[in-house]
Amino acid sequence: MGSTPQISTKPHAVCIPYPAQGHVNPMLKLAKLLHYKGFHISFVNTEYNHTRLLRSRGPTALDGLADFRFYTIPDGLPPSDADATQDIPSLCKSTQETCLEPFCKLITKLNTASGSHAPPVTCIVSDGVMSFTLKAAEQFGIPEVLFWTTSACGLLGYLNYRQLVERGYTPLKDMSYVANGYLETKLDWVQGMKKDIKLRDIPSFIRTTDPNDFMVKYLGGESEAIAKASVLILNTFDALEQDAVDAIKAVQHQIYTIGPLMLHQIPNNNHALKSIGSNLWKEEPTCIDWLNKKEPNSVVYVNFGSITVMNSQQLTEFAFGLANSKKHFLWIIRPDLVAGESAMLPPEFVAETEERGMLASWCPQEEILKHPTVGGFLTHSGWNSTVESISGGVPVICWPFFAEQQTNCRYSCVEWGIGMEIDNDVKRDEVEGLVRELMDGEKGKEMKRNVVEWKRKAEVAVGVGGSSFVNLDKLVAEVLLGK
Ligand code: UDP
Repeated sequence: MGSTPQISTKPHAVCIPYPAQGHVNPMLKLAKLLHYKGFHISFVNTEYNHTRLLRSRGPTALDGLADFRFYTIPDGLPPSDADATQDIPSLCKSTQETCLEPFCKLITKLNTASGSHAPPVTCIVSDGVMSFTLKAAEQFGIPEVLFWTTSACGLLGYLNYRQLVERGYTPLKDMSYVANGYLETKLDWVQGMKKDIKLRDIPSFIRTTDPNDFMVKYLGGESEAIAKASVLILNTFDALEQDAVDAIKAVQHQIYTIGPLMLHQIPNNNHALKSIGSNLWKEEPTCIDWLNKKEPNSVVYVNFGSITVMNSQQLTEFAFGLANSKKHFLWIIRPDLVAGESAMLPPEFVAETEERGMLASWCPQEEILKHPTVGGFLTHSGWNSTVESISGGVPVICWPFFAEQQTNCRYSCVEWGIGMEIDNDVKRDEVEGLVRELMDGEKGKEMKRNVVEWKRKAEVAVGVGGSSFVNLDKLVAEVLLGK
Protein backbone atom coordinates (compact mmCIF):
# COMPACT_ATOMS: atom_id res chain seq x y z
CA MET A 1 0.00 0.00 0.00
CA GLY A 2 1.42 3.43 -0.92
CA SER A 3 1.94 5.99 1.81
CA THR A 4 1.95 9.79 1.52
CA PRO A 5 5.54 11.02 1.31
CA GLN A 6 6.64 12.98 4.35
CA ILE A 7 7.38 16.61 3.42
CA SER A 8 10.72 17.52 4.91
CA THR A 9 10.82 20.51 7.24
CA LYS A 10 14.37 21.44 6.28
CA PRO A 11 15.23 24.92 5.03
CA HIS A 12 15.50 24.77 1.23
CA ALA A 13 18.15 26.77 -0.64
CA VAL A 14 18.04 27.17 -4.42
CA CYS A 15 21.63 27.68 -5.59
CA ILE A 16 22.17 29.16 -9.05
CA PRO A 17 25.70 29.74 -10.37
CA TYR A 18 26.63 31.71 -13.47
CA PRO A 19 27.10 28.94 -16.06
CA ALA A 20 30.89 28.81 -16.31
CA GLN A 21 33.35 26.46 -14.61
CA GLY A 22 34.91 29.09 -12.33
CA HIS A 23 31.46 29.94 -10.96
CA VAL A 24 29.89 26.46 -10.78
CA ASN A 25 32.81 25.11 -8.69
CA PRO A 26 32.64 27.56 -5.77
CA MET A 27 28.80 27.54 -5.79
CA LEU A 28 28.81 23.76 -5.51
CA LYS A 29 31.23 23.98 -2.59
CA LEU A 30 28.96 26.45 -0.83
CA ALA A 31 25.90 24.29 -1.58
CA LYS A 32 27.66 21.27 -0.03
CA LEU A 33 28.45 23.26 3.10
CA LEU A 34 24.83 24.37 3.38
CA HIS A 35 23.67 20.78 2.88
CA TYR A 36 26.01 19.69 5.65
CA LYS A 37 24.44 22.38 7.83
CA GLY A 38 21.00 20.86 7.29
CA PHE A 39 19.66 22.44 4.09
CA HIS A 40 17.75 20.76 1.31
CA ILE A 41 19.56 21.91 -1.85
CA SER A 42 18.23 22.51 -5.35
CA PHE A 43 21.19 23.27 -7.62
CA VAL A 44 20.35 24.95 -10.92
CA ASN A 45 22.58 24.45 -13.94
CA THR A 46 21.95 25.43 -17.53
CA GLU A 47 20.89 22.60 -19.83
CA TYR A 48 24.16 23.01 -21.73
CA ASN A 49 26.33 22.57 -18.64
CA HIS A 50 24.17 19.79 -17.22
CA THR A 51 24.72 17.76 -20.38
CA ARG A 52 28.46 18.39 -20.11
CA LEU A 53 28.50 17.35 -16.45
CA LEU A 54 26.74 14.07 -17.21
CA ARG A 55 29.19 13.50 -20.08
CA SER A 56 32.26 14.15 -17.94
CA ARG A 57 31.11 12.44 -14.74
CA GLY A 58 28.73 9.69 -15.90
CA PRO A 59 24.93 9.57 -16.25
CA THR A 60 24.15 8.85 -12.58
CA ALA A 61 26.85 11.06 -11.02
CA LEU A 62 24.39 13.67 -9.81
CA ASP A 63 21.68 11.33 -8.47
CA GLY A 64 23.26 10.31 -5.16
CA LEU A 65 21.22 12.23 -2.58
CA ALA A 66 17.48 12.74 -2.10
CA ASP A 67 17.98 16.15 -0.53
CA PHE A 68 20.60 17.49 -2.96
CA ARG A 69 18.93 17.69 -6.36
CA PHE A 70 19.98 19.13 -9.71
CA TYR A 71 17.65 21.06 -12.02
CA THR A 72 18.13 22.83 -15.32
CA ILE A 73 17.00 25.95 -17.12
CA PRO A 74 17.91 27.00 -20.69
CA ASP A 75 20.65 29.61 -21.04
CA GLY A 76 18.92 31.37 -23.93
CA LEU A 77 21.67 30.61 -26.46
CA PRO A 78 21.03 28.44 -29.56
CA PRO A 79 21.14 24.70 -28.70
CA SER A 80 24.57 23.12 -29.08
CA ASP A 81 26.16 19.82 -28.12
CA ALA A 82 29.66 21.30 -28.12
CA ASP A 83 32.00 20.60 -25.20
CA ALA A 84 33.68 23.97 -24.74
CA THR A 85 33.37 27.21 -22.83
CA GLN A 86 30.63 29.36 -24.32
CA ASP A 87 31.27 32.91 -25.51
CA ILE A 88 31.22 34.93 -22.29
CA PRO A 89 29.63 38.23 -23.47
CA SER A 90 26.89 36.30 -25.34
CA LEU A 91 26.24 34.17 -22.26
CA CYS A 92 26.09 37.21 -19.96
CA LYS A 93 23.61 38.90 -22.28
CA SER A 94 21.40 35.85 -22.75
CA THR A 95 21.27 34.87 -19.06
CA GLN A 96 20.43 38.45 -18.13
CA GLU A 97 17.69 38.70 -20.75
CA THR A 98 16.13 35.24 -20.76
CA CYS A 99 16.70 33.28 -17.52
CA LEU A 100 14.34 35.01 -15.09
CA GLU A 101 11.17 33.41 -16.43
CA PRO A 102 12.37 29.77 -16.45
CA PHE A 103 14.00 30.35 -13.04
CA CYS A 104 10.70 31.57 -11.53
CA LYS A 105 8.84 28.67 -13.15
CA LEU A 106 11.30 26.28 -11.57
CA ILE A 107 10.81 27.75 -8.10
CA THR A 108 7.04 27.51 -8.52
CA LYS A 109 7.44 23.87 -9.55
CA LEU A 110 9.69 23.16 -6.55
CA ASN A 111 7.10 24.71 -4.24
CA THR A 112 4.20 22.75 -5.66
CA ALA A 113 5.66 19.49 -6.99
CA SER A 114 3.19 16.83 -5.96
CA GLY A 115 4.68 13.68 -4.49
CA SER A 116 7.98 15.45 -3.81
CA HIS A 117 9.67 15.28 -0.43
CA ALA A 118 11.10 18.74 -1.00
CA PRO A 119 10.14 21.42 1.50
CA PRO A 120 9.12 24.85 0.15
CA VAL A 121 11.96 27.04 -1.10
CA THR A 122 13.13 29.29 1.75
CA CYS A 123 16.06 31.22 0.19
CA ILE A 124 18.02 31.85 -3.00
CA VAL A 125 21.79 31.75 -3.20
CA SER A 126 22.67 33.33 -6.52
CA ASP A 127 25.82 34.16 -8.38
CA GLY A 128 26.58 37.88 -8.23
CA VAL A 129 26.49 38.16 -12.01
CA MET A 130 23.01 36.63 -12.15
CA SER A 131 21.36 39.52 -10.35
CA PHE A 132 18.10 39.04 -12.31
CA THR A 133 17.41 36.44 -9.59
CA LEU A 134 16.76 39.30 -7.14
CA LYS A 135 13.44 39.79 -8.93
CA ALA A 136 12.58 36.15 -8.25
CA ALA A 137 13.40 36.55 -4.55
CA GLU A 138 11.15 39.58 -4.43
CA GLN A 139 8.35 37.75 -6.23
CA PHE A 140 8.47 34.77 -3.84
CA GLY A 141 9.09 36.91 -0.75
CA ILE A 142 12.25 35.07 0.29
CA PRO A 143 15.76 36.32 1.14
CA GLU A 144 18.50 36.21 -1.46
CA VAL A 145 22.23 36.21 -0.89
CA LEU A 146 24.49 37.15 -3.77
CA PHE A 147 27.70 35.19 -4.04
CA TRP A 148 30.41 37.05 -6.00
CA THR A 149 32.86 34.31 -6.90
CA THR A 150 35.62 36.83 -7.70
CA SER A 151 38.15 38.28 -5.30
CA ALA A 152 37.04 41.27 -3.20
CA CYS A 153 39.67 43.39 -5.00
CA GLY A 154 38.22 42.30 -8.37
CA LEU A 155 34.69 43.17 -7.31
CA LEU A 156 35.97 46.52 -6.06
CA GLY A 157 37.46 47.10 -9.52
CA TYR A 158 34.04 46.54 -11.12
CA LEU A 159 32.39 48.81 -8.57
CA ASN A 160 34.68 51.58 -9.86
CA TYR A 161 33.66 51.16 -13.51
CA ARG A 162 31.10 53.98 -13.30
CA GLN A 163 33.76 56.36 -11.89
CA LEU A 164 36.26 55.31 -14.55
CA VAL A 165 33.78 56.21 -17.27
CA GLU A 166 32.72 59.47 -15.60
CA ARG A 167 36.34 60.53 -15.07
CA GLY A 168 37.12 59.77 -18.73
CA TYR A 169 39.60 56.90 -18.28
CA THR A 170 37.50 54.59 -20.44
CA PRO A 171 36.57 54.16 -23.29
CA LEU A 172 40.09 54.55 -24.69
CA LYS A 173 40.50 56.90 -27.66
CA ASP A 174 42.00 54.04 -29.65
CA MET A 175 43.57 50.69 -28.86
CA SER A 176 47.10 51.95 -29.53
CA TYR A 177 46.81 53.45 -26.02
CA VAL A 178 47.20 49.93 -24.60
CA ALA A 179 50.59 49.49 -26.24
CA ASN A 180 51.69 53.09 -25.58
CA GLY A 181 51.81 53.06 -21.80
CA TYR A 182 48.40 54.54 -21.03
CA LEU A 183 47.54 51.57 -18.80
CA GLU A 184 50.43 52.60 -16.51
CA THR A 185 48.33 55.61 -15.42
CA LYS A 186 48.06 55.68 -11.63
CA LEU A 187 44.63 55.77 -10.01
CA ASP A 188 45.35 57.27 -6.61
CA TRP A 189 41.66 57.90 -5.85
CA VAL A 190 40.27 54.34 -5.72
CA GLN A 191 38.96 53.76 -2.19
CA GLY A 192 40.24 50.51 -0.68
CA MET A 193 43.21 50.13 -3.05
CA LYS A 194 46.78 51.37 -2.68
CA LYS A 195 47.63 54.79 -4.16
CA ASP A 196 49.91 53.25 -6.78
CA ILE A 197 47.24 51.03 -8.31
CA LYS A 198 47.25 51.45 -12.10
CA LEU A 199 44.71 51.28 -14.88
CA ARG A 200 46.35 47.99 -15.94
CA ASP A 201 45.34 46.45 -12.58
CA ILE A 202 41.63 47.20 -13.07
CA PRO A 203 39.49 44.36 -14.54
CA SER A 204 40.30 44.18 -18.25
CA PHE A 205 36.98 45.12 -19.83
CA ILE A 206 37.85 48.83 -19.55
CA ARG A 207 40.32 48.23 -22.41
CA THR A 208 37.72 49.18 -24.98
CA THR A 209 37.10 52.04 -27.40
CA ASP A 210 33.35 51.47 -27.49
CA PRO A 211 31.32 53.95 -25.37
CA ASN A 212 28.50 51.38 -25.33
CA ASP A 213 30.68 48.40 -24.49
CA PHE A 214 28.37 45.69 -23.19
CA MET A 215 30.75 44.15 -20.63
CA VAL A 216 31.58 47.53 -19.04
CA LYS A 217 27.91 48.34 -18.61
CA TYR A 218 27.02 44.79 -17.60
CA LEU A 219 29.67 44.39 -14.90
CA GLY A 220 29.23 47.95 -13.69
CA GLY A 221 25.51 47.24 -13.28
CA GLU A 222 25.85 43.75 -11.83
CA SER A 223 28.39 44.89 -9.25
CA GLU A 224 26.17 47.75 -8.12
CA ALA A 225 23.25 45.28 -7.75
CA ILE A 226 24.92 43.91 -4.59
CA ALA A 227 23.20 46.82 -2.81
CA LYS A 228 19.81 45.19 -3.44
CA ALA A 229 20.63 41.75 -2.00
CA SER A 230 20.04 40.73 1.63
CA VAL A 231 23.77 40.09 1.92
CA LEU A 232 26.92 39.53 -0.11
CA ILE A 233 29.12 36.45 0.20
CA LEU A 234 32.78 36.33 -0.87
CA ASN A 235 35.14 33.39 -1.24
CA THR A 236 37.98 35.18 0.51
CA PHE A 237 39.10 35.73 4.10
CA ASP A 238 39.44 38.92 6.09
CA ALA A 239 43.19 38.81 6.66
CA LEU A 240 43.78 38.58 2.91
CA GLU A 241 41.51 41.36 1.63
CA GLN A 242 40.37 43.48 4.56
CA ASP A 243 40.79 46.88 2.83
CA ALA A 244 38.88 45.84 -0.29
CA VAL A 245 36.11 44.26 1.81
CA ASP A 246 35.79 47.42 3.89
CA ALA A 247 35.55 49.58 0.75
CA ILE A 248 32.78 47.34 -0.68
CA LYS A 249 30.83 47.95 2.54
CA ALA A 250 30.07 51.45 1.23
CA VAL A 251 27.72 49.71 -1.24
CA GLN A 252 26.61 46.62 0.73
CA HIS A 253 27.12 46.68 4.44
CA GLN A 254 26.28 43.02 5.05
CA ILE A 255 29.30 41.08 3.78
CA TYR A 256 30.16 37.54 4.80
CA THR A 257 33.70 36.51 3.88
CA ILE A 258 33.61 32.72 4.14
CA GLY A 259 36.63 31.53 2.18
CA PRO A 260 38.62 29.67 1.25
CA LEU A 261 35.57 27.45 0.74
CA MET A 262 37.76 24.46 -0.10
CA LEU A 263 39.33 24.48 3.38
CA HIS A 264 36.08 24.10 5.35
CA GLN A 265 35.80 20.60 6.77
CA ILE A 266 32.95 18.27 5.86
CA PRO A 267 33.24 14.88 7.65
CA ASN A 268 34.83 12.22 5.47
CA ASN A 269 32.03 9.70 5.95
CA ASN A 270 29.66 11.70 3.74
CA HIS A 271 30.68 9.85 0.58
CA ALA A 272 27.57 10.61 -1.46
CA LEU A 273 28.06 14.34 -0.90
CA LYS A 274 31.79 14.16 -1.61
CA SER A 275 31.26 12.29 -4.86
CA ILE A 276 29.16 15.09 -6.38
CA GLY A 277 31.59 16.95 -8.62
CA SER A 278 31.38 19.88 -11.00
CA ASN A 279 34.12 19.46 -13.57
CA LEU A 280 32.73 20.08 -17.04
CA TRP A 281 35.69 18.32 -18.67
CA LYS A 282 36.70 14.75 -17.87
CA GLU A 283 39.59 14.71 -15.40
CA GLU A 284 42.68 12.68 -16.30
CA PRO A 285 43.39 10.74 -13.07
CA THR A 286 46.87 9.70 -14.23
CA CYS A 287 48.14 13.20 -13.37
CA ILE A 288 48.22 12.24 -9.69
CA ASP A 289 50.00 8.92 -10.40
CA TRP A 290 52.60 10.86 -12.36
CA LEU A 291 53.09 13.39 -9.54
CA ASN A 292 53.40 10.57 -6.97
CA LYS A 293 56.67 9.55 -8.62
CA LYS A 294 58.32 12.95 -8.34
CA GLU A 295 60.45 14.65 -5.67
CA PRO A 296 58.88 17.16 -3.23
CA ASN A 297 58.55 20.70 -4.64
CA SER A 298 60.05 19.68 -7.98
CA VAL A 299 57.14 20.11 -10.43
CA VAL A 300 55.83 23.26 -12.13
CA TYR A 301 52.09 22.99 -12.65
CA VAL A 302 50.78 24.93 -15.67
CA ASN A 303 47.08 25.60 -16.16
CA PHE A 304 45.23 28.59 -17.60
CA GLY A 305 41.73 27.68 -16.39
CA SER A 306 38.54 27.16 -18.34
CA ILE A 307 38.22 30.33 -20.44
CA THR A 308 41.70 31.61 -21.42
CA VAL A 309 42.55 31.25 -25.08
CA MET A 310 45.94 31.92 -26.62
CA ASN A 311 47.36 31.82 -30.12
CA SER A 312 49.73 29.17 -31.37
CA GLN A 313 52.69 31.56 -31.12
CA GLN A 314 52.08 32.05 -27.39
CA LEU A 315 51.66 28.30 -26.91
CA THR A 316 55.02 27.74 -28.60
CA GLU A 317 56.74 30.37 -26.41
CA PHE A 318 55.39 28.75 -23.24
CA ALA A 319 56.44 25.31 -24.55
CA PHE A 320 60.06 26.31 -25.22
CA GLY A 321 60.25 28.33 -22.02
CA LEU A 322 59.24 25.25 -20.04
CA ALA A 323 61.54 22.98 -22.02
CA ASN A 324 64.53 25.31 -21.60
CA SER A 325 63.95 25.67 -17.83
CA LYS A 326 64.82 21.95 -17.56
CA LYS A 327 62.22 21.61 -14.79
CA HIS A 328 59.61 18.88 -14.47
CA PHE A 329 56.18 20.13 -15.41
CA LEU A 330 52.53 19.11 -15.57
CA TRP A 331 50.83 21.16 -18.27
CA ILE A 332 47.07 21.09 -18.78
CA ILE A 333 46.11 21.96 -22.34
CA ARG A 334 42.34 22.21 -22.69
CA PRO A 335 41.01 21.07 -26.09
CA ASP A 336 39.88 24.67 -26.76
CA LEU A 337 42.94 26.47 -25.30
CA VAL A 338 44.29 27.63 -28.67
CA ALA A 339 41.99 30.04 -30.50
CA GLY A 340 40.37 28.57 -33.60
CA GLU A 341 42.55 25.47 -33.88
CA SER A 342 43.71 22.44 -31.96
CA ALA A 343 46.87 22.93 -29.89
CA MET A 344 49.89 21.79 -31.90
CA LEU A 345 53.10 21.58 -29.90
CA PRO A 346 56.42 21.71 -31.75
CA PRO A 347 57.74 18.11 -32.26
CA GLU A 348 61.17 19.07 -30.82
CA PHE A 349 59.46 20.21 -27.61
CA VAL A 350 57.60 16.90 -27.29
CA ALA A 351 60.76 14.87 -27.94
CA GLU A 352 62.91 16.94 -25.58
CA THR A 353 60.50 16.94 -22.64
CA GLU A 354 59.08 13.41 -22.85
CA GLU A 355 60.88 12.38 -19.66
CA ARG A 356 60.23 15.55 -17.69
CA GLY A 357 56.80 16.69 -18.74
CA MET A 358 53.26 15.43 -18.54
CA LEU A 359 50.54 16.87 -20.76
CA ALA A 360 46.84 16.39 -20.02
CA SER A 361 43.58 18.01 -21.10
CA TRP A 362 41.97 18.51 -17.65
CA CYS A 363 42.89 17.55 -14.11
CA PRO A 364 41.59 17.58 -10.52
CA GLN A 365 43.27 20.94 -9.83
CA GLU A 366 42.61 21.19 -6.11
CA GLU A 367 44.27 17.83 -5.53
CA ILE A 368 47.18 18.86 -7.72
CA LEU A 369 47.76 22.07 -5.77
CA LYS A 370 47.74 20.14 -2.49
CA HIS A 371 50.26 17.62 -3.80
CA PRO A 372 53.67 17.90 -2.09
CA THR A 373 55.61 17.52 -5.34
CA VAL A 374 54.12 20.69 -6.85
CA GLY A 375 56.53 23.57 -6.21
CA GLY A 376 55.01 26.34 -8.35
CA PHE A 377 52.00 27.21 -10.47
CA LEU A 378 52.03 29.03 -13.80
CA THR A 379 48.47 30.40 -13.83
CA HIS A 380 46.13 32.85 -15.54
CA SER A 381 45.24 34.21 -12.06
CA GLY A 382 41.58 33.22 -12.07
CA TRP A 383 40.23 33.74 -8.56
CA ASN A 384 39.56 30.06 -7.87
CA SER A 385 43.04 29.14 -9.03
CA THR A 386 44.51 31.88 -6.85
CA VAL A 387 42.60 30.79 -3.74
CA GLU A 388 43.38 27.13 -4.40
CA SER A 389 47.05 27.98 -4.79
CA ILE A 390 47.10 29.91 -1.51
CA SER A 391 45.25 27.03 0.18
CA GLY A 392 47.89 24.61 -1.13
CA GLY A 393 50.80 26.88 -0.20
CA VAL A 394 52.03 27.12 -3.82
CA PRO A 395 53.63 30.33 -5.22
CA VAL A 396 52.60 31.52 -8.68
CA ILE A 397 53.75 32.96 -11.97
CA CYS A 398 50.87 35.03 -13.36
CA TRP A 399 49.83 35.43 -16.97
CA PRO A 400 46.45 37.14 -16.54
CA PHE A 401 44.08 36.80 -19.47
CA PHE A 402 40.97 38.87 -18.81
CA ALA A 403 38.30 40.11 -16.38
CA GLU A 404 39.55 40.61 -12.79
CA GLN A 405 42.55 38.32 -13.38
CA GLN A 406 44.62 41.50 -13.87
CA THR A 407 43.62 42.65 -10.39
CA ASN A 408 44.33 39.24 -8.85
CA CYS A 409 47.75 39.29 -10.53
CA ARG A 410 48.59 42.70 -9.04
CA TYR A 411 47.53 41.58 -5.55
CA SER A 412 49.40 38.26 -5.86
CA CYS A 413 52.62 39.96 -7.01
CA VAL A 414 52.57 43.22 -5.03
CA GLU A 415 50.26 42.96 -2.01
CA TRP A 416 50.66 39.32 -1.00
CA GLY A 417 54.19 38.67 -2.32
CA ILE A 418 53.32 35.24 -3.70
CA GLY A 419 53.73 35.84 -7.43
CA MET A 420 55.69 37.17 -10.40
CA GLU A 421 54.08 38.42 -13.61
CA ILE A 422 54.89 37.35 -17.17
CA ASP A 423 54.56 39.98 -19.86
CA ASN A 424 51.38 39.68 -21.88
CA ASP A 425 53.56 39.39 -25.02
CA VAL A 426 55.05 36.17 -23.69
CA LYS A 427 58.59 35.19 -24.73
CA ARG A 428 60.35 31.88 -24.08
CA ASP A 429 63.37 33.45 -22.34
CA GLU A 430 61.17 35.20 -19.82
CA VAL A 431 59.21 32.00 -19.14
CA GLU A 432 62.46 30.07 -18.67
CA GLY A 433 63.92 32.73 -16.35
CA LEU A 434 60.82 33.08 -14.20
CA VAL A 435 60.31 29.33 -13.90
CA ARG A 436 63.92 28.91 -12.74
CA GLU A 437 63.51 31.78 -10.27
CA LEU A 438 60.24 30.33 -8.99
CA MET A 439 61.70 26.88 -8.40
CA ASP A 440 65.31 27.67 -7.35
CA GLY A 441 65.82 31.42 -6.88
CA GLU A 442 65.85 33.68 -3.81
CA LYS A 443 62.66 35.41 -4.94
CA GLY A 444 61.03 31.99 -5.36
CA LYS A 445 62.00 31.06 -1.81
CA GLU A 446 60.61 34.31 -0.46
CA MET A 447 57.33 33.78 -2.34
CA LYS A 448 57.11 30.27 -0.96
CA ARG A 449 57.57 31.55 2.61
CA ASN A 450 54.88 34.18 2.02
CA VAL A 451 52.36 31.80 0.51
CA VAL A 452 52.86 29.27 3.30
CA GLU A 453 52.11 32.06 5.77
CA TRP A 454 48.95 33.01 3.83
CA LYS A 455 47.95 29.36 3.84
CA ARG A 456 48.34 29.30 7.61
CA LYS A 457 46.18 32.43 7.93
CA ALA A 458 43.57 30.86 5.63
CA GLU A 459 43.47 27.77 7.84
CA VAL A 460 43.02 29.96 10.91
CA ALA A 461 40.14 31.78 9.15
CA VAL A 462 38.19 28.57 8.45
CA GLY A 463 39.20 26.87 11.73
CA VAL A 464 36.86 26.88 14.76
CA GLY A 465 36.36 30.50 15.86
CA GLY A 466 38.11 31.93 12.78
CA SER A 467 36.54 34.78 10.75
CA SER A 468 35.29 32.63 7.85
CA PHE A 469 34.06 29.87 10.20
CA VAL A 470 32.09 32.38 12.28
CA ASN A 471 30.77 34.21 9.20
CA LEU A 472 29.47 30.98 7.66
CA ASP A 473 27.60 30.13 10.86
CA LYS A 474 26.21 33.65 11.07
CA LEU A 475 25.15 33.57 7.41
CA VAL A 476 23.20 30.37 8.02
CA ALA A 477 21.62 31.43 11.30
CA GLU A 478 20.89 35.10 10.74
CA VAL A 479 20.20 35.30 7.03
CA LEU A 480 19.20 31.94 5.63
CA LEU A 481 17.28 30.69 8.68
CA GLY A 482 16.26 34.19 9.83
CA LYS A 483 16.91 33.43 13.51
N1 UDP B 1 40.04 23.39 -12.88
C1 UDP B 1 40.20 22.05 -12.71
N2 UDP B 1 41.00 21.37 -13.59
C2 UDP B 1 41.62 21.97 -14.62
C3 UDP B 1 41.45 23.37 -14.79
C4 UDP B 1 40.67 24.06 -13.90
O1 UDP B 1 39.66 21.44 -11.77
O2 UDP B 1 42.34 21.29 -15.37
C5 UDP B 1 39.19 24.14 -11.94
C6 UDP B 1 40.02 24.93 -10.95
O3 UDP B 1 40.33 24.12 -9.83
C7 UDP B 1 39.11 26.11 -10.62
C8 UDP B 1 38.31 26.32 -11.89
O4 UDP B 1 38.42 25.11 -12.64
O5 UDP B 1 38.26 25.77 -9.55
C9 UDP B 1 38.81 27.48 -12.73
O6 UDP B 1 38.43 28.67 -12.10
P1 UDP B 1 39.31 29.98 -12.15
O7 UDP B 1 38.57 31.03 -11.40
O8 UDP B 1 40.68 29.70 -11.67
O9 UDP B 1 39.45 30.35 -13.68
P2 UDP B 1 38.40 30.47 -14.91
O10 UDP B 1 38.27 29.11 -15.46
O11 UDP B 1 37.11 31.01 -14.36
O12 UDP B 1 39.08 31.40 -15.84
